[in-house]
Amino acid sequence: MQETPDVGELSPPQRTLMGPGPSPVHPRVLKAMSTPLVGHLDPSFVEIMDETQELLRYAFQTDNQWTIPVSGTGSAAMEAAIGNLVEPGDTFLAPTNGYFGDRMAEMARRAGGDVVRVGAPWGEPLDPDDVADACEEFDPDVFGFVHAETSTGAKQTNVPAITAAAHEHDALVVADTVTSLGGVELRVDDWNIDAAYSGPQKCLSCPPGASPLTLNDRAMDKVLDRDAPARSWYLDLSLLEGYWGDERAYHHTAPISNVYALREALRLVAEEGIEERWARHERVAGALKAGVEAMGLGLNPEPDYWLPSLNAVRVPDGVDDGAVIDYVLEHYDLEIASGLGDLEGDIFRIGCMGHGARPENVTLVLAALADAFD
Ligand code: PLP
Repeated sequence: MQETPDVGELSPPQRTLMGPGPSPVHPRVLKAMSTPLVGHLDPSFVEIMDETQELLRYAFQTDNQWTIPVSGTGSAAMEAAIGNLVEPGDTFLAPTNGYFGDRMAEMARRAGGDVVRVGAPWGEPLDPDDVADACEEFDPDVFGFVHAETSTGAKQTNVPAITAAAHEHDALVVADTVTSLGGVELRVDDWNIDAAYSGPQKCLSCPPGASPLTLNDRAMDKVLDRDAPARSWYLDLSLLEGYWGDERAYHHTAPISNVYALREALRLVAEEGIEERWARHERVAGALKAGVEAMGLGLNPEPDYWLPSLNAVRVPDGVDDGAVIDYVLEHYDLEIASGLGDLEGDIFRIGCMGHGARPENVTLVLAALADAFD
């Protein structure tokens, strides 16, 4: 017989989340999450699903019918996109300019794809000419890129030019928009992106658990025409079609509370207006950037591809980044993060996302950093 555990009531500290995600959750989203459940096939839930899909289309700026929240974190939506679009033997062109491009490559490999790479240094976007050259050389079936690289704080600029380069070779284009959706200009249809996935815990300021995904008809046709089913049963989009498409038939039990939360988070996006929301992120993160620069700290990426939602601040010589991160957590209940992969030890990653992108949070970050460096 196991002893009865003596575990107290849940009482996590109140942190201000200004790291790479999760970001602070809006109180209205927390309230939606605590709303009583209905069944995942209840007629009222079917309506909530429709509304969530409509709101997601607005956030992605797409008319794609195939726009859904995938049950799971951003990596689940990522694996749903890549694992369904890449068939065994397909050539997948992946970027080398960050941690999440590597993850795309790894998922494509596990889906049976032959992975080839298009290069740019960490902290820089892909150059459209390099994408065109790589497409000429490798003739990929699918090309993936990361719109907002959370590991480097660099934004992929010239998106229409890189999608055009891939389309010239008939490749499908899949975009990682985990750290851009709802915070950084993103136009899925106008930019001719065939599939895009995201996470709710960044610029949408929603707890992780139901992750946005959109595919156009061309991408979905490929998914429905596969020779062999996708290797994952859970993330097989041809099966998920039964639940999120017209049929509304059981596939798995949807994470009801996460869908409630996402719906509310997306309602907040619609209320604010997507373009105003992009502008707010740029305004508030711009103040943060000006503040850290005034303290003598530099940002890692060039100004042209600065990513407002994730500010990569160079760690000054002689400063122990881990000690600074621990100090602001302990003294200010403030979360910021260290670098990842190639940039480990070189940068602080300071998020400015969704409900976190507010002037009072910028003031707190600057005051805490000034104190930590003192
Ligand atoms: N892609 C990018 C750019 C990310 O920043 C993240 C998470 O930080 C992911 C994918 C994976 O998302 P998750 O951690 O929610 O699985």
